[in-house]
Amino acid sequence: ETIRKYHKGDSNEQSSLKHQYDLVCIGGGSGGLAAAKRAHLELQSRDIQPKIAIVDYREHPNIVNTSPDRPEINWRWGLGGTCTNVGCIPKKIMHTAALYGEYVQNASEFGWKVPSTVEHDWESLVENVQNHIRSIHFGYRSDMMLNKIEHINARAKFLDKHTIEVTDAKGNVKTITSRRFIIAVGCMPKYPDIEGAKEYAITSDELFALIKPPNKTLVVGASYIALESAGYLSGLNQKVTVMMRSIPLRGFDQDCAQKIVEFMKERGTTFKQGCVPTKIRKNKNSFVVEYVDDKNSVHVEEYDTVLFAVGRKCVADELGLQQLGVKFDNDKIDVNEFEQTSVPHIYAVGDCINRGLELTPTAIHAGSLLSRRIYSEELVTKNHKHIMDYTNVPTTVFTPLEYGSCGMSEEDTIKKYGQDNIEVYLIGFTPLEHEFTHKDTNKTYMKVICVGSEEKIIGFHYLGPNAGEITQGVAVAIRLGVTKHDLDSTVGIHPTVAEEMTRLN
Ligand code: FAD
Ligand code: NDP
Repeated sequence: ETIRKYHKGDSNEQSSLKHQYDLVCIGGGSGGLAAAKRAHLELQSRDIQPKIAIVDYREHPNIVNTSPDRPEINWRWGLGGTCTNVGCIPKKIMHTAALYGEYVQNASEFGWKVPSTVEHDWESLVENVQNHIRSIHFGYRSDMMLNKIEHINARAKFLDKHTIEVTDAKGNVKTITSRRFIIAVGCMPKYPDIEGAKEYAITSDELFALIKPPNKTLVVGASYIALESAGYLSGLNQKVTVMMRSIPLRGFDQDCAQKIVEFMKERGTTFKQGCVPTKIRKNKNSFVVEYVDDKNSVHVEEYDTVLFAVGRKCVADELGLQQLGVKFDNDKIDVNEFEQTSVPHIYAVGDCINRGLELTPTAIHAGSLLSRRIYSEELVTKNHKHIMDYTNVPTTVFTPLEYGSCGMSEEDTIKKYGQDNIEVYLIGFTPLEHEFTHKDTNKTYMKVICVGSEEKIIGFHYLGPNAGEITQGVAVAIRLGVTKHDLDSTVGIHPTVAEEMTRLN
């Protein structure tokens, strides 16, 4: 096996024969699964039957803080990590469930005879969500069997640079040696350091499996997870308050972020700005939250559920990597541009590395490229580097008014290029379906930010239906260096919302 020169120090001198495995991926989420699968494909295409394993384990903590009418949850994650079990997948289903509620409300305008009040059944949604997750687990398991990738359902910890100790749910321990490791252990939700937080509040890890509806809910935080959760919970008829200490969606275009907040307010979500919780205690059937506002006044309110969405903490520090000399950057693993740690044959991808992006496709792409770089014959012969590009990664925030973005925010472009050197094109409009129902008039919004005399597009922001579907295509164009002139000279598809980008003035 030839090792590319850009994998510094990870040479072939230590043969795989010395080890039980050629590759062990620690973490069977988006990054780990993609890396293992690609490594297998590359080696198999070279008639090598590789020995690859994925070590993945997460025992879900018991929820001890449930109110009397909400039974406890205790389950173990299957393969798929955050995205499948407690992230993108259950979240998107709940978001879609909330959108269906709106469609039902609007359906009479389209001639459907619907009852004036339509109820939502939380229990059956959660059951269906969990069944869907189980079906994804089944798919992963059969995929791995087909590809002869071993799944070791145990917690991993390094003993030395080529050896890990794995401990399963029953406490059985064994050691495993491998030629290489790819770490993709991801992150876990954080709790603020206040009394009662861990005992009485939940996080997104629990939300999608709550057997009873959360009812009156306080969501603490104002980024992706907080606003998405607040959005679909409101849409599913729960009474939701968002408590934000500063601005919504830090790092995103603030013009768009504010519009999302306004939209959510109109849809019934309450916002408490400039407030932070200081204490939570349990009452008989509810939780009492003490919080301070921006004038330092103390308030007390009762909720049925408190959901913290205040960021996520990397779990790589539990792997014993520091003793091997692997460098960290705060709590994340420090990797070079080839996702290689300071120990040459130990690599890392996904949420646990210091690249600032915690997104599933980023983890998948980086994991897949990494394995191609290490194992692909084609890359050796053509000397392709295939380095992961972490810039211009598109994303969508699945709030009730969906927000797709790619590239820089207006604030960041002004900071970088100066107000006089950028051009911002804006359009607010009403899609046909909203015009027809006379709802959400003029809420759909598009912003294109250009720089230089050729008006190269460096930022795209869109608020409205199907934001992810629209933004994905724009991301390709931005990668290829699209200019405003290119948009103007493209013929639109009518009647769509996307066609508006071809007639921005
Ligand atoms: P993970 O998927 O977290 O996988 C890590 C795995 O490693 C886990 O199974 C963990 O249990 C396991 N593990 C950890 N430590 C050990 C150990 N010591 N031994 C063995 N196994 C271990 N991203 C999007 O792109 N779009 C979205 O819409 C989106 N929505 C999200 C919604 C929510 C509520 C959340 C929380 C996240 C969302 N994300 C979304 C982010 C996305 O889920 C993550 O970026 C992605 O899952 C990261 O993949 P990963 O492989 O780095 O880690
Ligand atoms: P973020 O780190 O993005 O945001 C944390 C939020 O919590 C901020 O609003 C922050 O406020 C606030 N906060 C932090 N500490 C406290 C505190 N002690 N008290 C009150 N508020 C606090 O985390 P998220 O959990 O929302 O998301 C994590 C990552 O998961 C995202 O960055 C994203 O990459 C990924 N994700 C992607 C999704 C998608 O693609 N659609 C959906 C969900 C998650 P402040 O701004 O003041 O610091």
